[in-house]
Amino acid sequence: MQTSSSDNVKKWELPIDSGPLPESDTHFDVIVVGGGPGGSAAASYAAIAGNKVLLLEKKSFPRDKVCGDAVGGKSLRIVTELGVKELIEDTPHNRVTGIKFSSPGGQSITCSLPMEEIKNKEAGYALPRLQFDYMMFKKATEYVLSGGGSVIQNFNVEEVLFQESDIKKITGISGIVAREKDEKLIYHAPLIIGAGGFNCPVANVVTRECNNEPMRDDEHYCAAYREYWTDVNGIETSQEPIEIHFIDGVLPGYWWIFPVGKDPKGNVIVNVGIGMVVSEMNKRSINLRKLQTSIIESHEHFSKKFKGASMIKGSGKGYQLPFGSPRKNPPSYQPRRSSMAGAMCVGDAAALVDPFSGEGIGNALLSAKIAISYFDKDKHKNGFPQELSEKYMTEIWDTLGPELSNSFKLQKMVRKKWLMNWVIRKANKKPELKDLLEQSLSSKEAQEELKSTWKLLRLLLF
Ligand SMILES: Cc1cc2nc3c(=O)[nH]c(=O)nc-3n(C[C@H](O)[C@H](O)[C@H](O)COP(=O)(O)OP(=O)(O)OC[C@H]3O[C@@H](n4cnc5c(N)ncnc54)[C@H](O)[C@@H]3O)c2cc1C
Repeated sequence: MQTSSSDNVKKWELPIDSGPLPESDTHFDVIVVGGGPGGSAAASYAAIAGNKVLLLEKKSFPRDKVCGDAVGGKSLRIVTELGVKELIEDTPHNRVTGIKFSSPGGQSITCSLPMEEIKNKEAGYALPRLQFDYMMFKKATEYVLSGGGSVIQNFNVEEVLFQESDIKKITGISGIVAREKDEKLIYHAPLIIGAGGFNCPVANVVTRECNNEPMRDDEHYCAAYREYWTDVNGIETSQEPIEIHFIDGVLPGYWWIFPVGKDPKGNVIVNVGIGMVVSEMNKRSINLRKLQTSIIESHEHFSKKFKGASMIKGSGKGYQLPFGSPRKNPPSYQPRRSSMAGAMCVGDAAALVDPFSGEGIGNALLSAKIAISYFDKDKHKNGFPQELSEKYMTEIWDTLGPELSNSFKLQKMVRKKWLMNWVIRKANKKPELKDLLEQSLSSKEAQEELKSTWKLLRLLLF
């Protein structure tokens, strides 16, 4: 666990000055709806490429976002590229040094990075999204304003504007509408980036309204609940691993315990949460908050860990994650349609959350980078073409499809209690498998090997 000096502690609590409100009917090259990690990255890449950008965010920073707060290696590569890594390191954070897993039967395994490799091999960070998103949005605001664009906070995009052909057929998206107090404001651009998360208004238009395709599918949506705690037993020291527990009654979801930094008094803050696929939750009438409380208060092992611990008041919140698992009979693109003429969706708005780990920040950042690489303000000044929107969706699935599909297989595997017990028992006995799991925390090659079902099966069976 690394903490910054106390003079930096409140850096992410200062309001971000996003400049004057642009006049209604202003034209931009790119409008980004949503200022989470995906939207901030898209706005940054678009401004760096020389575009006049409008970045719009419903809330005002600093703002909380319900999350497990783990920022993995994939995210860090983009965060570094955008110059945000130093800002994060300058706030309290936990550098991930290992992961502890436990099975429903109670067996556990801890995969740790060797001490000498922690500095060089980045397994990721864990820090509250209040800080991470603030730093991403602050940097994006700098890029956008210095490129001649505009940023508006507290701005809820209500409507999306269409271009229509002579026969009143929608040919593309061309702008957005919102209200500032009583005034209706309209902004135009040849490209709108939908980065408004699981309920993004642009994604709604791209899927349901314009293409009559489903936006939400409860088989591929996850509900999750998070609380922050202090004084959790066994998490008093620095360099604690993050913990993922496959508990009876929580499967096929999992319960997590992630240390995310320290409060000003030096107490370790721990993100504790639980997630489950919505269809499963509904089938079993599960209330995630109650389920988490029962684990903390009554679980044979975990109730001891939380004896004397305190929940930070007001930190209990639920949210949804649109998984990127492959759909059985998709009407068009996998995991679902995310683009059309005039618009590309990124991150949760494109349903790209990993269906096993629940990680979505990395794919939000990566999809933002890919989306912006398709846009050319000179060639596309009359509208971002349909043909490129299709290429974007194909590239996203070619890039992320293999790992999302593999994670979906793992998600199905963990539904089987006996199998989880067996895998963790086996991993404890097989140094070769434990080694591979440990290396996979930081090494791309090991992650590739782990993605190979054959390699995993061979290690597990022989
Ligand atoms: C409980 C939980 C735990 C998770 N744990 C992890 C984890 O540990 N690691 C990880 O990588 N991922 C995790 N995720 C997933 C991760 O939070 C998301 O994948 C990630 O936030 C996606 O980023 P995004 O920018 O696409 O969307 P978001 O972060 O949802 O950002 C969307 C933004 O758009 C704004 N917005 C929405 N509608 C409008 C509108 N109409 N007008 C203007 N602005 C709008 C919102 O206010 C928000 O700021 C978790 C999710 C949950 C719910």
